[in-house]
Amino acid sequence: MANAQKTKAQPADEVESLRRRVRELEAVNARLDQQVAEQTAALARADARFLQERRERERVEDALRHRAEFETLIALLSKHFLNLSPQEIDEGITYALRVIGEFAGVDRSYLFLFADEKKTRLDNTHEWCAEGIPPQRQHLQGVPVEAIPWWMRQLHQLQTIHIPRVADLPREAAAEKALLRAQGIRSLIVVPLTSGGTLSGFLGFDAVREEKAWRPESARLLTIVGEIFAHVLARRQTDKTLQEREEQFRQLAENIREVFWMSVPGMSQLLYVSPAYEEIWGRTCESLRAEPRVWLETIHPEDREFARAALEKQRHGELTDAEYRIVRPDGAVRWIRDRSFPVRNAQGEVYRVVGVAEDVTERRRAEESLREAKEAAEAANRAKTEFLATMSHELRTPLHIVLGYTDLVLEEEFGALSDKQKNVLRRVRKNARVLQDLITAVLELSRLEAGQLPVNRRKVQVAPLLAEVEVELQDLLEQSGLVYASSLADPLPALYTDPDKLKVVLKNLIGNAVKFTERGNITVAARTREEGVEVSVTDTGIGIPAEMLARIFEPFYQGDSSSTRPYGGAGLGLYIVKRLLELLEGTVTVESQVGRGSTFRIWLPASAGLRVPVFDLRRGQWVLRVKG
Ligand code: ADP
Repeated sequence: MANAQKTKAQPADEVESLRRRVRELEAVNARLDQQVAEQTAALARADARFLQERRERERVEDALRHRAEFETLIALLSKHFLNLSPQEIDEGITYALRVIGEFAGVDRSYLFLFADEKKTRLDNTHEWCAEGIPPQRQHLQGVPVEAIPWWMRQLHQLQTIHIPRVADLPREAAAEKALLRAQGIRSLIVVPLTSGGTLSGFLGFDAVREEKAWRPESARLLTIVGEIFAHVLARRQTDKTLQEREEQFRQLAENIREVFWMSVPGMSQLLYVSPAYEEIWGRTCESLRAEPRVWLETIHPEDREFARAALEKQRHGELTDAEYRIVRPDGAVRWIRDRSFPVRNAQGEVYRVVGVAEDVTERRRAEESLREAKEAAEAANRAKTEFLATMSHELRTPLHIVLGYTDLVLEEEFGALSDKQKNVLRRVRKNARVLQDLITAVLELSRLEAGQLPVNRRKVQVAPLLAEVEVELQDLLEQSGLVYASSLADPLPALYTDPDKLKVVLKNLIGNAVKFTERGNITVAARTREEGVEVSVTDTGIGIPAEMLARIFEPFYQGDSSSTRPYGGAGLGLYIVKRLLELLEGTVTVESQVGRGSTFRIWLPASAGLRVPVFDLRRGQWVLRVKG
């Protein structure tokens, strides 16, 4: 019973306690659940964070690896370029385009360079394409910059152009968009190339099969590639220019007939000799290079000392200009003109000598034959002058006798004459005088030409000299029926000249004035001009046409040379005037008007003959200067 009671009492308690326990357990359970949930959530959060961190780490690692690989690639490429010869650079660039293209996973990589100095056109110079991607290079030659304005603007500002989606290009890049679409390009990146701080072209990478975006890091690395390319291209340009210059110099030196040479001073070593040496010297360049001193032995023994002296001068940094003879192996002698110039280093020391040697044999020969011809001509002229002088003399003597007897007959020394006889005799006399004048002129001229006319200078006053001339021409002037007047300035400076020659000049001019003047006056005037005296002879005669003026001072020139001409003379008068004035250091000029008359002006320096030859350093020649 007790058990029953116990049992009776027990169930109620037990149930209660069981319920309690259940509740307690439930509470514990709920707490546990919550704890589990909380911990699970915390774990999930930690896991997510961990995942994110891992991804981030992986991304960074990936980027770092990519960058490291890219950097290694760039380092390899720049090393590759370093070892390339200028001829291999094109191939090297194409190779680099391939390596970077493949590394970056693009479809096409390429280089554009300006095609002209003015930078108006671009050429696609190098290109690499992935398999199955059509090349574009041949279509992209001479592309005008106006075709891609938006693009060019950015490139000129040296900005990289990154276009992840061609479809997203802005409206102002419509031209570029059309161009890229036509080539099937979806994404691209373009890096400017510079040379000397300005744009010289660009480097580009296209994605055709699918869109591609470049990491900023990669874009930056690409600019380094651009710099390497620009550097390599600039080097190629320099090499090319250098090569062209060398080529030009070589062409110049090797095709010119002169020998160019370069040696150390004193010729102990020859640095260069152009091939013309072989032709002129008849020896090989090699033989001269091997033994430069042999050059002296090629020189004619008579000129060797002189050549040695030139070498000595070169050693002291002097310019030389020497002409010497060489003897070729075949025994032929040639004349050489050899000029040399010192080349100095920064310290001013002569460390090289450059020279030009040319074969002047022909010139020397021509000079020689010219000299011979001149001597022959001079000898012939002398013979002619002597002949003329003799002839004139031989002619004058009988003419003198003719005139003398004519005068005597006319003066009726041998009996009375009829008027008719007198007239005939007067004509004989007149013509004999013309002949006499002519012979005098020819004689004068021949002596002038032979340089046999000595200048006998004295102090001469112009006025009395003119008076003498008037007296000597009195007959002529009176017979002419012209009015003769003279007008002399007072005072006139005295001249130091040859009065006889001055008289010949004046008589010729006044004689011509009378001869060519029908009626009117002849005026002789004298005045001071430019430290000398000017004498003019003016007539009112037929005048001289303008086209003749320049020629009347030529020997044997006559205004009217027809056989029916009314005036006497041989066309020598004015030539003699001119030559005499040259001797007296004076001048003669003429002004004339047809039908109105002529004025001949002569001028003589007061100081002529008082001058002495002085060497004018500035002009490098002898000039006459007044003594004292
Ligand atoms: P010539 O008088 O013997 O013919 P000149 O040498 O004295 O030779 O003169 C050359 C030419 O110049 C003359 O033939 C003449 O035509 C022209 N001439 C010279 N003096 C005069 C002058 N005073 N008036 C016109 N013509 C003149």
